[in-house]
Amino acid sequence: MISLRGLTKEFPGGVRALDSLDLEIADGEFFALLGPSGCGKTTLLRTIAGLETPTSGSVGIGGADVTGLPPGRRDVAMVFQDYALFPHMDVTANIAYPLRIRKVPRTRREAKAAETASRLSLSELLTRRPGQLSGGQQQRVALARAIACHPKAFLFDEPLSNLDARLRLEARTFLKRLQRELAVTTVFVTHDQGEALALADRIAVMSAGRIMQLGTPSEVFQRPATTFVASFIGSTPMNLLPGAAEGGALRVAGAVLPLPDGVPEGPVVYGLRPEYADLSPTPPDDTSGGPSGGPAGGTAAFSGKVAVVENLGTAHLVTLECGEHLVQAVVPEGAEPEPGSAAWVVPRPGRALVYRDDELVSRA
Ligand code: ATP
Repeated sequence: MISLRGLTKEFPGGVRALDSLDLEIADGEFFALLGPSGCGKTTLLRTIAGLETPTSGSVGIGGADVTGLPPGRRDVAMVFQDYALFPHMDVTANIAYPLRIRKVPRTRREAKAAETASRLSLSELLTRRPGQLSGGQQQRVALARAIACHPKAFLFDEPLSNLDARLRLEARTFLKRLQRELAVTTVFVTHDQGEALALADRIAVMSAGRIMQLGTPSEVFQRPATTFVASFIGSTPMNLLPGAAEGGALRVAGAVLPLPDGVPEGPVVYGLRPEYADLSPTPPDDTSGGPSGGPAGGTAAFSGKVAVVENLGTAHLVTLECGEHLVQAVVPEGAEPEPGSAAWVVPRPGRALVYRDDELVSRA
């Protein structure tokens, strides 16, 4: 278990990289720290590892307060973005290095290195040096080195970001399987929301040294607490449109939509994922009781003109000009409209999110 209390880190020059942060990571959990560049993810990981000293607050690992302990006595293994392998050592020596530091006898540490290498399919490469390995192989050597000393926790700083897109996907699945097998508490830093959603049991979305939302991947994806989290999570950005709750309806970008419970009159931001937006070449049928589709005489869809159609492989991303707003929808293969044609964006019921003062107040 990793327990952080009131953790603040200020760098010279007044940068507050961590701001009174509280966090509990459970034993065996795969935990992702997600956020844009500069939000404090790496600083948080380095503070857990003991490579940074917090300005105030405490770090607990496995029930003990380790705030004053140097990195070597925290029993955690860190895997860096550039793997930090020793170029002059072969694979065996790299994997066995932490055991050598701990004065494990040579034969035992080489046996342990060989066993760990075999688990990571590196047995054929034991006598090679890092410069003779591919990026993916180097990444596995770095993982093997972390695993060989049975740490209490793994701390990963963007360990997949130097791999090409395809290898990255393979390495992701491999890492997830390995973590399940070893059941070692893992903290994983990434700025890639897809990676965090795919790997983690829980995600902390960070901004400016604070945690904006903490939850399971599906909680963070389905119910982003703020428009910042909403815009950050999802492979295509969420449509976030200004609107108002007025006269018993939601009025957004020319559409008049049913007013969900819990939304008082006043300005709102209406969030709709492109994946939850259906396209229709004609105005939708009246489903909500209003004379032409909407609750108060308007149409319960966004009327627009198709501006751009992008091929995503098995789907298309369609961008429409709806008055002064751009609205995006993901449509299945074969259902893509012609650029320049008229279309209506129909929100799937219960899938849109309504924000008031940047707080989620309801689903529509
Ligand atoms: P990235 O995804 O780009 O690695 P990050 O979320 O990991 O970003 P950090 O590296 O933790 O962000 O940096 C957080 C803030 O602290 C940034 O504003 C950064 O410029 C600042 N910072 C980090 N290290 C130092 C340092 N040694 N001295 C001064 N400022 C620093």
